[in-house]
Amino acid sequence: ISKEIDEPQVEDLVRDNGSNFNAGNAVPATILSLVRNEDLNELIESIKQIEEKFNAKFNYPYTFLNDNEFTEEFKESVRHLLPDEREVRFGKISEEDWNIPEIVDKEKYKQGIELLESEGVSYASKESYHNMCRFYSRTFYKHPLLKDIKYTWRLEPGVKFYCDIDYDVFKFMSDHNKIYGFVLNLYDSPQSVKSLWKDTRSFLQDNPDYINEEGSFDWIKENMQKSVNFNITEGYSTCHFWTNFEITNLDFLRSEPYEAYMDFLESKGGFYYERWGDAPVRSLALGLFADKSQIHWFRDIGYNHFPYTNCPNSAKCDKRCSPGSFTPWNDLEIENCQATWMKYSMTDDDL
Ligand code: GDP
Ligand code: MN
Repeated sequence: ISKEIDEPQVEDLVRDNGSNFNAGNAVPATILSLVRNEDLNELIESIKQIEEKFNAKFNYPYTFLNDNEFTEEFKESVRHLLPDEREVRFGKISEEDWNIPEIVDKEKYKQGIELLESEGVSYASKESYHNMCRFYSRTFYKHPLLKDIKYTWRLEPGVKFYCDIDYDVFKFMSDHNKIYGFVLNLYDSPQSVKSLWKDTRSFLQDNPDYINEEGSFDWIKENMQKSVNFNITEGYSTCHFWTNFEITNLDFLRSEPYEAYMDFLESKGGFYYERWGDAPVRSLALGLFADKSQIHWFRDIGYNHFPYTNCPNSAKCDKRCSPGSFTPWNDLEIENCQATWMKYSMTDDDL
């Protein structure tokens, strides 16, 4: 953090404030948010900041998805927040895509979450959270509103953006052939993904051709800090991209390895019997099927989703951001595994 960060080294992607650059869908992309009506106030804070720091210059559309109908109040409030030229789409998720699927054994599910509860896994007994994790893992990119979209930037309610982003990140992804962009790397609670790695290995045994030789295997299997995790998960470090921020090339999700893997995971029922998060699921898929040089750490994007923060040392950041900050609580530092990514998987392409 001693050296000031000024990225990317791609001058022609930079736009000045007020240049009125209309992306005109330079890249078919959208800011995407799965939200509930009751998330409105926190969502407004997120939208204001992503607009101020990025999208006012680039005019990318917004897509909002919900398992319920959005209320008129919700839609009006969001519309009024944004300039007229900004395209805003609201969509409903079908019950079939959202609800717990038939194949899940209700009794096994009940027992599973009782165990997870006793182990203190957060959200274990909240069915909608299981639905959400499954939806963001295997379903969201099939929504009709995303049919012609190639890149999504996931936005959650209540997040903060601290630094000006004065280049078109979607075009950056496209020009540099990136398939995934992240900001934070964390360990997960191992109880939530007890059999995910074991199941994944059996999938790989049947489908060895899906493995990308340039994958991030050492990052997946690293066992430096958390041998407890490692034992519980039978060999997965639990290190994952924190998916509440993610910029994704949907072609990767729409590819055969990813979809076959999702169907396999679905058949195992672990989105319900355990509490497989979309973050470890996405991260394992990326670590196994993607070339690590195509995964980009947006270290220049100052970001906070409670309780973690990424703050670069850059003049483009506002006062809320102090360089290098991750979290104010030291005992949470142990949750950070960004160093592992840098050690094993960051390539020259990303320096
Ligand atoms: P956390 O970040 O893991 O604590 O989980 P969140 O509560 O922030 O949920 C992740 C994302 O999914 C957020 O964008 C939420 O607004 C959204 N979300 C979570 N549960 C639901 C739900 O039941 N319905 C809808 N429509 N969105 C949800
Ligand atoms: Mn969240």
